[in-house]
Amino acid sequence: MEKKIEYTNGELTIIWRPDLCQHSGICVKMLPKVYNPKEKPWVKPENATTQQLIDQVTQCPSGALSYRMNKEK
Ligand code: SF4
Repeated sequence: MEKKIEYTNGELTIIWRPDLCQHSGICVKMLPKVYNPKEKPWVKPENATTQQLIDQVTQCPSGALSYRMNKEK
């Protein structure tokens, strides 16, 4: 089964599919405080605004990153 790993900042959830990731590093260059492959977890969505995260996710060239908005409580 395809692997999916999710990271959330409470408002939005980032979904990362490691099998699709081409390790181009665009995410790391755009938001280095969020994406740091040397740390665990390597995605820390709390370090950017929801809008910054959306703008970045749509730049991922491989489709490895996607997102969904969390439901209102
Ligand atoms: S931008 Fe997408 S393909 Fe590139 S390293 Fe990040 S998750 Fe992987």
